This record gives sequence, structure tokens and C-alpha cells, in this order.
Amino acid sequence: MIIKEIGEIGNGFYAVGSAGVPVYLLDGPVPVLFDAGLTAGAFLYEAGIKQILGERVPEYLFLTHSHFDHVGAASHFKDVWQDLKISGAVHCSEILQKTKAVQLMRNLNFEGARLIKESGLEPINDNGFESFNLDILLQPDQTIELGPGLSVVALNTPGHTWDFMSYWIPEKKILVASEAVAMYEANGDLQSEFLVDFDAYIDSLKVLKKLGAEILCLGHHVVCTGEDAVAHIENSFQASMDYLIMTEKFLAQEKGAVDKVVELVKKAEWDTRPWPKQPESAYLLNTWQRVNTIWNRMNRN
Ligand SMILES: [Zn+2]
Repeated sequence: MIIKEIGEIGNGFYAVGSAGVPVYLLDGPVPVLFDAGLTAGAFLYEAGIKQILGERVPEYLFLTHSHFDHVGAASHFKDVWQDLKISGAVHCSEILQKTKAVQLMRNLNFEGARLIKESGLEPINDNGFESFNLDILLQPDQTIELGPGLSVVALNTPGHTWDFMSYWIPEKKILVASEAVAMYEANGDLQSEFLVDFDAYIDSLKVLKKLGAEILCLGHHVVCTGEDAVAHIENSFQASMDYLIMTEKFLAQEKGAVDKVVELVKKAEWDTRPWPKQPESAYLLNTWQRVNTIWNRMNRN
């Protein structure tokens, strides 16, 4: 099944706030959050979490990576739940200390507020993105015990970013893969999300495929369950290969002019996509990274 709405996914696991930019909540002996969405959605996430937990509070927030739309409301969560242990990769923590990176996240979050506004959700948080500290620096393959018969395993799965962690809950076969797998566009297209390294992205997909997830949580818009979870990882390999072939062709034709190829790729995929879609400046940043990554790869090989 492909689930495109927020609410209970099953078995004490929920998507809250906004289907486009969700926060995931695992209820259990200690409740746990995955990712922190957009800054503009902070009140929506908080309300959604409180509706499920009542007086109980989340104990951990696990971050997949330090992109603006995955860490946006983390500082708000820490204000609301002061004992929340924010957890992520060492490299994620380092990026959150960089003035330029934080400024970029602020700018992109202001633009990203459009996604929340256009979906008609209220109330909007108009405050800007604030950086924050990580309480727990996760090591690859580290297991966090949540109580009897429930744990979270942090998996190092680079390729989208270098700081990327996917989270595996073995007892429930839930995998929070976010952008370590491809994203669905509104028109059904699949967008491969490798940004920093194509081959590392493929290797990470192989690691995720082996887990045999029954609930696969994407970064945006959707959760795949059962056979659709298996199919989605397979389709993510295919979307990545298709993207590689298209971009290599453009790069050969334009003799490595990355900016020109970004224009061609944008014309081929983004321009014709209906809204809601990734905001233009975030899309252009990501596309430039993808094209440049492929150009460097062509030169290496
Ligand atoms: Zn991302």
C-alpha cells in the first residue's frame, strides 16, 4: 500500500503534521520522533504529537540529515520538550555549527513555508530557523534500546548527503529511509535523491534493500508498506540509473558545462511538474549538486 496522508501508519507508528513534510512518531515504552520537518510547520507537528501522546513526552528525536526540511522544527521541539535527546550523525552536528549552512537553512525555510501555506494547514510558525545542539552523536550501526522488545538502529547510508543516517526498527520492520530512497513527485515521477555521491547512494540502497522493511518511510509525501515497500527500493535503483544516463548524455553534449546541463535537466523534469513540488531554489541547488556529482564521476572513470 502507498499511504499519502498523515495519521497512524500502523502498529503505534504515525506520520504527523504534513504529508509533504512529515515528522514520524513511534509510540511505545518511550515515544520517539524521526526528523523535524520545516520550521513553518513547528506548531502543526507539536499539536499532532500531543494529540497522540497526551501528557507523555517524546524521549528521542532522530535526525536523518541536516537539510532545512528535516531539521526545521528541532529547536522548537527542544523548547517544548526540554528533556528531548536530539540525536544524529557527528557530521550532522558539525554542519549545524556552520554559520553559512545555518543561514542557508533559514533562507530555504522561509521559502519552504509556502509548502505548508499552500496545503492550507494552520497555524504557521513565522519564526526563522534556529540552530541547535545534538545531545547524542550516533555511531554507524549503533543500537538505541527503547525498552523491552523495541530498539532503533542507526544506519550510515551516505549518498544524498555525507551525514545521512537511516533508522531501522527491527522488531516492527519499520525503516525510516527518508531521502536515502527516491521521492515521488505529484505526477508520479520518481526523483533520485543522490546529491554528493552516486555510487555511495547505490551502495546505501543495497544496504536498505537487505533489511526487508515492511513499512518504508520516505522523506516526503508517502509511506510504502508491504510489496510497495519492496518495489520502491527497486524503483529507486532504476530512477537513479535513468537519471545517470540522462545527465551523462547532456554532459557529453554540452562538454561538461554544468550550469547549462542544470537548465536542460530542469526543463526535462521540474518545469513540467505540477505543484506541490520542491521549491525552485532548493530544486536548483540539488540539481546542481547531482549534475556536478555525475560530471566528477565521469572524469574519474
Ligand atoms: Zn535532503
